[in-house]
Amino acid sequence: MKAIVNSAIIMNNSVLKGHTVLFDEKIREIKEESVADLRGTEEVIDAQGRFLSPGFIDLHIHGCSGSDTMDDNDISIGNISRSLPATGVTSFLPTTMTMSQPAIRKTIDRIRRLMGHEPGATILGCYLEGPFISEEYKGAQYGGFIRKPDFKIIEGFLDVIRIVILAPEEEGSGEFIENCSKHGIITAIGHSGASYEQAMEAIRKGASHITHTFNAMAPLHHRKPGVVGAAMDSSASCELIADNIHVDPAVQRILLKVKGTDNIVLVTDAMRACMLEDGEYDLGGQKVLLKGAEVRLESGALAGSVLTIDRALRNFRANTGISVVDAVSTVTANPARILGLEDRKGSISEGKDADLVIFDEQFNIYGTFIKGKTVYEKK
Ligand SMILES: [Zn+2]
Repeated sequence: MKAIVNSAIIMNNSVLKGHTVLFDEKIREIKEESVADLRGTEEVIDAQGRFLSPGFIDLHIHGCSGSDTMDDNDISIGNISRSLPATGVTSFLPTTMTMSQPAIRKTIDRIRRLMGHEPGATILGCYLEGPFISEEYKGAQYGGFIRKPDFKIIEGFLDVIRIVILAPEEEGSGEFIENCSKHGIITAIGHSGASYEQAMEAIRKGASHITHTFNAMAPLHHRKPGVVGAAMDSSASCELIADNIHVDPAVQRILLKVKGTDNIVLVTDAMRACMLEDGEYDLGGQKVLLKGAEVRLESGALAGSVLTIDRALRNFRANTGISVVDAVSTVTANPARILGLEDRKGSISEGKDADLVIFDEQFNIYGTFIKGKTVYEKK
């Protein structure tokens, strides 16, 4: 058993002080410091008054530290898993891109094999970004491999796929969404030029999530509300890339006002250059350039981000004035609920996985624990 003392514990709606968290691979007890018995604990960690929260979950990430989910080797996904705890992330959905069917199949097989054997952050399954997207709104996805929605393509991977992106204006999308719902897979609307009516119809059929809201979809027009209008006018959960490049801070504030903290999930959508220096990199077979915080195709189109979750939290809090507790819920309780993992993840309570992170007011990460194991300590 280990113990974390002297922390400000982020509970669902409040901050709890003066308590010790005792854990092995699970959180065992949250006890008042004056009565907690630390004899027999193998390690006592002093959080020095900093925050202690559930580990962060990144629902949508392609890569970092030079590696991409779709690299054709067994090292890359492990490298991503190993890198993420330094940013407070304890679990994630490796995200595929619109590439060839064999390349996507191979990647999902690899993810399935690696699950349960990760060197760092836990793989919760996989997020399929394409091939069922719109040519017009493909963004940095490669157009050559776009397909009409076809459930047969994903049928062999229902145990691994957690979220699949879809442009609901494409033929066959209704049936596809219903099939996904039947098998417990989340359909996300994104890379789409759907009208408001088409998007709302998809939501009625079971689509429940919006991929990087505002990006790779038509902007909100007062006579053509489109996907953004449907996102705001429904109970769908909304991803947000809070790097201040993909979405202006004012629009981040507007989204928070409309959706509330419960329906926003901060994601990174990070690509391999994340956590690396400026330079030239590859994204799904295309050349991209990283300069500062921006990564773009040669055409100038945004090509994913180099954002990390700790920075997303810092930006979003600065932009909106939201409390630390509410900000944290967008990367803990919300993604856990969306994935149906509330029984194990997303909050600090007895019996949950001991996925924990210690950080200060500015979201500087000091320590990360996954199922009780120390995976990151600030030097
Ligand atoms: Zn993406």
